[in-house]
Amino acid sequence: MGKKKKKSERKGKKTPKKTKRVKKSEFYEIKENTVERKRKICPKCGQGVFMAEHKDRFSCGKCSYTEWKKQV
Ligand SMILES: [Zn+2]
Repeated sequence: MGKKKKKSERKGKKTPKKTKRVKKSEFYEIKENTVERKRKICPKCGQGVFMAEHKDRFSCGKCSYTEWKKQV
């Protein structure tokens, strides 16, 4: 009985699985576009500052500028 156990040193080479998820970014682009269109930009603060939409008016949170919605 002289069984020698061989130590098998396996340096496992990990094959990186790259799962690309492009769907998310695609979805984002569409979303961003629609959001930008919906929101009003504050004329006082300029681009980048969106106004909060209320039932009958828009208001800027930065300079508290208020613009009333046109009643149809
Ligand atoms: Zn403003």
